[in-house]
Amino acid sequence: MKLIAFIVILFVQFLCVSPALAKPLDKVNVQLSWLHQFQFAGFYAALSQGFYKNEGLDVTLLEGGPGVVCNEALLHTKVNYCNATGSVVQRRVAGEKIVVLASIIQYSPVVLLTRKDSGLEVVKDLIGKRVETMSAGLPLVSIEAMFQSQGIELSQLDNREDTVGIDLLLNKTVDALYGFTSNEPYQLALAGVEFNAIRPLDYDIDFYGDVIITSERELELYKGRAKRFRSATIQGWRYALKNKVAMVDHIIEHYSQNKTKQALLAEATVIETLMLPNLIQIGHNNIERWEATAATLASINTIDKDYSLDGFIYQENDVESTYRSLLWIGGGFILLCWLIGILFLNNRRLAAEVQVQIVGKKNLQEAQDAAIIQAYTDELSGMGNRRSCYEYGAQAVEHTKAHKEPLSIIMIDIDHFKKINDEYGHAVGDEVICTIARVIVGRVRETDIQGRVGGEEFAVILPDTDIKGACSLAEEIRQALESTSVVVDDVTINITASFGVAAFKSDRDDICSIVKRSDVALYRAKAAGRNIVKTN
Ligand code: GH3
Ligand code: MG
Ligand code: MG
Repeated sequence: MKLIAFIVILFVQFLCVSPALAKPLDKVNVQLSWLHQFQFAGFYAALSQGFYKNEGLDVTLLEGGPGVVCNEALLHTKVNYCNATGSVVQRRVAGEKIVVLASIIQYSPVVLLTRKDSGLEVVKDLIGKRVETMSAGLPLVSIEAMFQSQGIELSQLDNREDTVGIDLLLNKTVDALYGFTSNEPYQLALAGVEFNAIRPLDYDIDFYGDVIITSERELELYKGRAKRFRSATIQGWRYALKNKVAMVDHIIEHYSQNKTKQALLAEATVIETLMLPNLIQIGHNNIERWEATAATLASINTIDKDYSLDGFIYQENDVESTYRSLLWIGGGFILLCWLIGILFLNNRRLAAEVQVQIVGKKNLQEAQDAAIIQAYTDELSGMGNRRSCYEYGAQAVEHTKAHKEPLSIIMIDIDHFKKINDEYGHAVGDEVICTIARVIVGRVRETDIQGRVGGEEFAVILPDTDIKGACSLAEEIRQALESTSVVVDDVTINITASFGVAAFKSDRDDICSIVKRSDVALYRAKAAGRNIVKTN
């Protein structure tokens, strides 16, 4: 009898500290920034897998589209959380009390696309042209910043509204279409139209892609709710990236048939690349990157120079959540006592063994996963390493032989790198390596194999790519590096690299023979004066 009373008391106490069980679910609305697609897979997964429910949340997702803008007013009326882009920092500086909860997509997929046959390749070419620069009558900030970085005002362009789809570029109604690297390039490739991609990132406009925002009001009125929403959404993203194909099917079945399965899978691949989930914890807010975004906006006079980001970045450890944590710890302690009581009264040893096995198995799995990632990752740059290039490369060559598909390899070697080390020190040299790694990783596909294979040498193995395709990617990376610089103590260090490209030729080839040929090509590039792509 006493035992039953004890259990009942503990159960009641458990209910008091467990929001999910004690209360009805909290209804919250989330405004997506665009039409349903893989870009929002983390939200869909958190719903379908019950992560929101476990956190006591009943979440409704509102589809976005052209003209849907999330601001403080919307956050005070219709919605509690929004998906937004990195340029949202502009609203904070302008006085809107918005807070960034989580940074999800590390690099902005924003791109201006032109037809290759138009010859429009760089921003300067777009002066006087019809360019999609506006959304809901306002300039798209990263696009405006890209033009301003080249000394071009939007008034020098024929500004058009952002549209859905690629039709206006296909029928030549606009000269440059605003899009996402995760969407429109795939559609253009499918339509057989060759295109140029002009990316703000290539002009050092490095904004976050997707972030989740809320209002200070939400944080004040509903203590702890944002934390639960954030945690469940991040859990959703982890699930979505591990189960991309299943999520794509889920999107088609439950949200939208706007895009085909192939298109959603292609989008998923690009999104994952831009999220860098193996390098950066999903949701992590890097204050320096936010400061850099604000500094970019200030430098082009989009925001005041004396901006402050105080209060913009969400801090997890608010008083309420500490209080809640204490409640949970208390609750956990009580539960533990309860469990021990039960175990004691029933079969203590058996249950304890089961528990130990579960925890042990989980730890082992986690340790194994971590060890595998570490073994194939270059510690400095976060790229793949030599082992990953050779092992995965060998598999890719076997696949190439079996399926009679092309395959190419690009070898990249930094030019006069020793001089950089000698002049600025090894730490700056390391910084240059990391910068170059980011440029390369930002430009390859998920299916490509990339890595740092030597001190200042990198390899990219491109399955299903002929030598022409590989050369154009090598040239794209070469140009991107040429326009990238590393700034240290007011000194700007310019970077270039040389490129050697070779392709799979016959069944006698293996990974080593193709690497060897691309090394020969690289040697020729060095001999030809460096900062050039050569083939062999
Ligand atoms: P080239 O244009 O002919 O390639 O000239 P280089 O100076 O780039 O080539 P070289 O092979 O003469 O020098 C490469 C230098 O790279 C020497 C080495 O100290 C440096 N290095 C190798 N690994 C690392 C590293 O992990 N970090 C740093 N900072 N330097 C490295
Ligand atoms: Mg070298
Ligand atoms: Mg070198």
